[in-house]
Amino acid sequence: ATPTALTVATSRLSRSGVLVRRAHVLDTLPKINRVVFDKTGTLTRGEITLSSTRLYGNLNESQALAIAAALEAQSEHPIARAFSGFRRQDLVVNNRDNQVGRGVTGTISGDFWRLGSGAWLAPEQQTEDLSVYLANDDGVVARFSLSDPLRDEAAALIQACHEQGIATTILTGDSSGQAERVAEQLGVNKLVKHASPDDKLAYLRDCDKAGETCLMVGDGINDAPVLAGAHVSFAMAGGTDIAKNSADAIMLADDLRHIMTARHVSTRCRTVIK
Ligand code: ADP
Ligand code: MG
Repeated sequence: ATPTALTVATSRLSRSGVLVRRAHVLDTLPKINRVVFDKTGTLTRGEITLSSTRLYGNLNESQALAIAAALEAQSEHPIARAFSGFRRQDLVVNNRDNQVGRGVTGTISGDFWRLGSGAWLAPEQQTEDLSVYLANDDGVVARFSLSDPLRDEAAALIQACHEQGIATTILTGDSSGQAERVAEQLGVNKLVKHASPDDKLAYLRDCDKAGETCLMVGDGINDAPVLAGAHVSFAMAGGTDIAKNSADAIMLADDLRHIMTARHVSTRCRTVIK
């Protein structure tokens, strides 16, 4: 009877767009008492667009955007998409490097460039919006304000978690004021911002020590180990292959509410098995 119940539950979940990769998902989901969310691309849609540019140096806006686009050309981070429309064939980047949790670097015509978080490139500035900075050896030359709208169903999911007695956390590398606004708007219980991938793992370990069972939901871009470090993890379909390999289940349908469907189905499956 056990394998049958598991098969039924797994196929019921795949119809809801939740692809179960490891069978322990069905055992662990009924026990969770906290859901930990990545922000960008998970609670937000990840369709990030440029809303405004502020210039500090000698470059004009189209030059700054072209440099940013060139630096991001190989990046998988959702922020990279904000720049993809500004690529130019004539800019060649050497030694392009991805700095996890911070941004990207590279050399163009002999100049070393960095594009990334305010905490990294302009720590003295406080920003309310999601923004990234472009800097060379002389300092910051541009600040790009980005728009990163919430998923329509995010608030309903957070509410459903709380109604079921499940606490919620946003765990993000972002250090801008946008993280606070998202947490407030959604009524999330706890916000941990400016977290490095190591900090994220440490947070999950602290939850474990406190006796909590955590579901981590994220795209895992740049920090797949965080997905692997949770008791149970879901990767968004938009994530990378490495994120999907690290996660216990993949959300094929782009709808966060299926997290609660999955928990419901697992709970019923467990009852049947008992
Ligand atoms: P999250 O926890 O939201 O997934 P990350 O840890 O991936 O955030 O990144 C933290 C911050 O570093 C981002 O909010 C952004 O400011 C900056 N950053 C990371 N990767 C990039 C990138 N490829 N381009 C620009 N900025 C980046
Ligand atoms: Mg990330």
